[in-house]
Amino acid sequence: MTAAHTGGCRCGAVRFEASAEPHHVSYCHCGDCRRASGAPVSAFVGFITEQVAFTGKALKMFENGPVTRSFCGICGSPIAYVDERLADHIYIMLGAMDMPAYFKPTHHAHVREQLPFLHMPDALPRHLKTSVPRPDGQRSDGTRS
Ligand SMILES: [Zn+2]
Ligand SMILES: [Zn+2]
Repeated sequence: MTAAHTGGCRCGAVRFEASAEPHHVSYCHCGDCRRASGAPVSAFVGFITEQVAFTGKALKMFENGPVTRSFCGICGSPIAYVDERLADHIYIMLGAMDMPAYFKPTHHAHVREQLPFLHMPDALPRHLKTSVPRPDGQRSDGTRS
């Protein structure tokens, strides 16, 4: 057993606690995450939704198609996204974790949209599109299985 993983927004109005280890840690280079975060690349820590407990009333949601992103309504920090095609999973912004250095990404997603001047010379697997297969049968390389 490990201690719970905690995190929150910049102002502290949103806090959360994950009771288990993440099942997924990855970078995302997609344009949607870029807009939502303001950063050239995002990183996410994936947990099972029911293993993450939020406290406070400041959490706001923004729905865009199947993806709902959450953020702090007071300080604006991005917190997480959920995708209705990936029921029971929540992907928390790596930077919202209290100990971000603990969560080492294991791959890159959506490198087709990676900014040309962004160089990340690691040997991690790179997926042209999503790194998490959606149940519509789309694989990570964008082809249909
Ligand atoms: Zn806040
Ligand atoms: Zn993305």
